[in-house]
Amino acid sequence: MDRRESLRALTLGAAGVASLAAVKESIAQAKAAAPQPAETARERARAGGMPPLKIKDIKVIVTKVNGTSNINCKIYTSEAGLYGIGCGTHAERPTIVAEMIEKYFKPMLIDRNADEIEKIWQELWIAPYWRGNVDANNAMAAIDGALWDILGKRCGVPVYTLLGGKVRTGLRMLGDIQARTPQIMEDQIRKMMEDGYDHFRIYLAGGGGEGGGEGGGRGRQPLSAGGGTIDPRARKEAPTEGPLPGGRGNDVEYIKRLCDAFEYVRNKIGWDIEIGHDVHERPTARGGVMLAKAVEQYRPFFMEDIFAPEDCGWYHVVRQQSSIGIAMGELFVNQNEWLPLVANRDIDIMRMHISAAGGLNLARKVAHVCEFFSVTTAWHGPANVSPVGHAVNLHVDLSINNFGICEGRPFSEQLQELFPGCPEIRKGIRYSNDKPGLGIDIDEKIAAKYPPSGDPGSERGGFDREGAPRRP
Ligand code: MG
Repeated sequence: MDRRESLRALTLGAAGVASLAAVKESIAQAKAAAPQPAETARERARAGGMPPLKIKDIKVIVTKVNGTSNINCKIYTSEAGLYGIGCGTHAERPTIVAEMIEKYFKPMLIDRNADEIEKIWQELWIAPYWRGNVDANNAMAAIDGALWDILGKRCGVPVYTLLGGKVRTGLRMLGDIQARTPQIMEDQIRKMMEDGYDHFRIYLAGGGGEGGGEGGGRGRQPLSAGGGTIDPRARKEAPTEGPLPGGRGNDVEYIKRLCDAFEYVRNKIGWDIEIGHDVHERPTARGGVMLAKAVEQYRPFFMEDIFAPEDCGWYHVVRQQSSIGIAMGELFVNQNEWLPLVANRDIDIMRMHISAAGGLNLARKVAHVCEFFSVTTAWHGPANVSPVGHAVNLHVDLSINNFGICEGRPFSEQLQELFPGCPEIRKGIRYSNDKPGLGIDIDEKIAAKYPPSGDPGSERGGFDREGAPRRP
């Protein structure tokens, strides 16, 4: 019964047509049928376009493959068989992200329009009041990625088409070199050059190590790196325990080792390749400035995380004293961290970990801001980004003009089985499969083979020579 019928019932009530109880029921039904203001506003905002497609369910899928947790979410819609998947992988704290999605975001989103991507992102950003933290950002990224996937599938185009279309056919990869000795380092570089690589991030004899990927462990120095072929000799021979140089009292030793490695590469292989290193925020602030000046002579294109996000003010100092390529950003979670560095032209390469910052919807804006300040992208992409997250990185980079370099390794057989449609690398270039949406799926039957087993995550960091906590 609608509002008009209810009023009529009221009028006829005097004639004894309806009982008082029936009238009350009619009024209640009329109120229930009346449009709700927020819903009306949302529908009014949909000027044309596609008919509504509703979010009907959200499932969090947590898996653990090769020691690393993957957090993905799957959004089901009102159209049977149409769903999307996103990545919210925070391998160190997977259960918090899963709970954020299931307990807080899911109730907000059921029966919402699946194509209101920007609107939903903005709502999720402010929903907890306190915002810009890595747990909520990853949960948002999982939702956001799935919604972009749905929109692409619905339109029948890859996500990069929705973002403006391909600017390039593929992404040049960053080759990671981890070696115990200079000769092994040289062998690795030459092998990867034969495979098409010409940009390298170098770690020699423990002179800094990438912290991403294998879960880490308190007091243990992770040695995994983000891309390329890992020489088994390097993994076996590299130190796995104890402090590495860098930090208070160790700056000079760290800088010397790094310069020795760069010197060797330039002497043996030459200047036709690009080289870099992940400093991983180890030196003191003054040590970071010394390091930047010392390595400048080797023309590094990519010196990553010389300082921690807490010490970002020092990048301006380095910029005034050295022409090295400055890469920064994998720990950024809000715009107050990255925007001043970009706007002041203090960095060259944006390293943001897309899911930790809030997902694809944010990353596309970050990329465009960076374009206006000649900052290129090198999204964080080691093993603690699920293949779905790597697909997000890929679609953003394919569609922007200021792509720089792509971090990522070939996916393991287990990951390729679990995530059909993993992006492929051929001759040092990563390619999209050009399927609608993100072009990647998650096989839930296979996922059952890789349960998280209640793993709450892992700890990072270590201790210095005096036993004080040391940055990862
Ligand atoms: Mg790094």
